[in-house]
Amino acid sequence: MTVPDQEKTGLGNYFIANYPPFSFWSGSELPAATAALNSPPKPGTPLGLYLHIPFCRKRCKFCYFRVYTDKNAKDVSVYLNAILKEVELLAATPCVGGRSLDYIYFGGGTPSYLSADQLKSLMTRLKEIMPWDKAREVAFECEPGTLQRHKLEALKEMGVTRLSLGVENFNPEILQYNGRAHLEDEVYRAYGWAREIGFEQINIDLIAGMVGESWDNWKSCIAKTLVMSPESVTIYQMELPYNTTFSKELKMAGDNHTPEMVIADWPTKRAWVAYAFDEFVKAGYEISSAYTVVKNKQKTQFVYRDALWTGADMFGTGVASFGHINGVHIQNVDTWEAYIAKLDAGEIPIGRALPVNERAQLIREMILQLKTGHLERQYFQSKFAVNITDEFRTGYAKLEADGLLKVTPHGVDVTPSGLLQIDRHLPTFFDPEHISSRYT
Ligand code: SF4
Repeated sequence: MTVPDQEKTGLGNYFIANYPPFSFWSGSELPAATAALNSPPKPGTPLGLYLHIPFCRKRCKFCYFRVYTDKNAKDVSVYLNAILKEVELLAATPCVGGRSLDYIYFGGGTPSYLSADQLKSLMTRLKEIMPWDKAREVAFECEPGTLQRHKLEALKEMGVTRLSLGVENFNPEILQYNGRAHLEDEVYRAYGWAREIGFEQINIDLIAGMVGESWDNWKSCIAKTLVMSPESVTIYQMELPYNTTFSKELKMAGDNHTPEMVIADWPTKRAWVAYAFDEFVKAGYEISSAYTVVKNKQKTQFVYRDALWTGADMFGTGVASFGHINGVHIQNVDTWEAYIAKLDAGEIPIGRALPVNERAQLIREMILQLKTGHLERQYFQSKFAVNITDEFRTGYAKLEADGLLKVTPHGVDVTPSGLLQIDRHLPTFFDPEHISSRYT
């Protein structure tokens, strides 16, 4: 059977992280970002803090994030001082309005690239600027090969509640071919320490469809993850955005690419995620989104994700970071030099922004919450005074006819098949001017 072109993993983004598309965010909207920071918050809106730590030991071939693999100790120290300065400047803006942080997320890059001492001094200073003793979650991303026991102890001591291990795959050849820096044994070692130290929540990240993946290997990855028994497992389907090493290699090879450079097609990746979800459900896990299974939905929250999907405010700090304040999307400048220079000059390093009107906010929350598999009509009625099943009738009907979701008396339920491919159907609900534009 041949695979139709749209089912092949071609170049471009699949994952919808935000709305309106990033290509609409612009440097000409900086006054809107400044006004948002200088206005009091909307009552009842939680505030979070994202910190981008852009260092990695090695660049994964599928990575499209702003990361650096060539910085020395002095650069790291310059960066950490800059990000602290940024948090200081943001903490003094009127949009904080007396709120304490509801959630903190250390992402990257590789936050665990920093040494235990660097982490302790960064976190101690951060807490002095914006206390996080009332935060419901402090999440921290780790690359298993960068962890030592004393680093994990330091993280626990500083209040990290959710540790996310970027495992992606267990097979040494696949890890190596895809440019991952860690080894399989390092995963077990880091996980064992984290369990002994007593983190409340450990998440394991996997990727379905890394180059070289096969059914047998994928099944073995799932079996190994089940034995580890983390509180949650996140599975992304491999995509091929522009500006990754893989996309460049593929482009250069043209039609002559070798079989091992081919990424599994979308139906295969969906089948792998479906298999994984089935296995986890059999073991007692519950599906909590298109990408996540959790051991216990009541106990295992993911505050950062839910805050983003319900329109919370968030300071996005660090080079090229994304945030959202008072109805305005904000992204920082996206080069090292510009980021450091702005902070040296005492300026908040905003690069581009987009004010999000009420309708775009409604669409944004509706499509992001579709990723949970359920929409509550009442939530949207109370927040936006809109009946979503009327407002988005045409889009829901189209997806319902394809067996991807079902409109219910309470709102919308996405079917299992719909959930596995939800991102590619979200543009159905975009306003016309956003549909045929570039996403990033
Ligand atoms: S570890 Fe993560 S951020 Fe770093 S290069 Fe790999 S995918 Fe990118």
